[in-house]
Amino acid sequence: MKHRRIGILGGMSPESTIVYYEHITRTYTERFGDYGYPEILIHSVNFQQFVDWQHAGQWTAAADEMARALEGLRLAGAGFGLIATNTMHIVFDAVQQAVGMPLVSIVDATAEAILSAGLHRVGLLGTVFTMREPFFRDRLAQAGIEVLVPEPGDQDRMNEVIYQELCGGRILEASRGMFLRIIDRLRLRGAQGIVLGCTEIPLLVRPQDCALPLFNTTLLHAEKALRLAVQPEP
Ligand code: GLU
Repeated sequence: MKHRRIGILGGMSPESTIVYYEHITRTYTERFGDYGYPEILIHSVNFQQFVDWQHAGQWTAAADEMARALEGLRLAGAGFGLIATNTMHIVFDAVQQAVGMPLVSIVDATAEAILSAGLHRVGLLGTVFTMREPFFRDRLAQAGIEVLVPEPGDQDRMNEVIYQELCGGRILEASRGMFLRIIDRLRLRGAQGIVLGCTEIPLLVRPQDCALPLFNTTLLHAEKALRLAVQPEP
């Protein structure tokens, strides 16, 4: 069976891009019993360049480079694309406009999962960009989901762990404890579930660590891509 080819804009960071590849290929085989998984093209970026653009607020430069890379994947036969990071969904609309194939939003995949779990108030963890800028929260709010974010000091501490540890593959017990304490404060403020809104956070915070339902954006995004790729073409 011919599936749609998946294009992944990855490398932000590689630690989570691996999870996309693993989820799509392994889950396909578990579900369908053979190795006929969809073809996957990965464009892995120079992540430092993106971190520099983030710090300088040069979102247009980042969007241009993302569009260029995704266009390359389209020309190589991708049927649709994924931006494999929550943070860079800050420029999702601009990139979508510049790319001639559909892009699957990680925020939409997350909103759909929260709604199908019947929740309406969640805590959002991620980089400072994801927690402070409106792009993620507003899209959830449009879907009728109330979003709580950690206090500013906690946001800074989480951001530090994401870039200094998780994106480099360092998983530290002390940082896990810190994230779990922040999650607990969100629970006390009324969060019914927690959005792990950075594709590396699930490497640190696992379902067994926490009593609240966790929305693993990496897996939700990868799963949506798998389902779309194996759907018969309309
Ligand atoms: N992977 C992270 C995210 O999902 C952060 C890395 C980045 O793109 O800056 O937001």
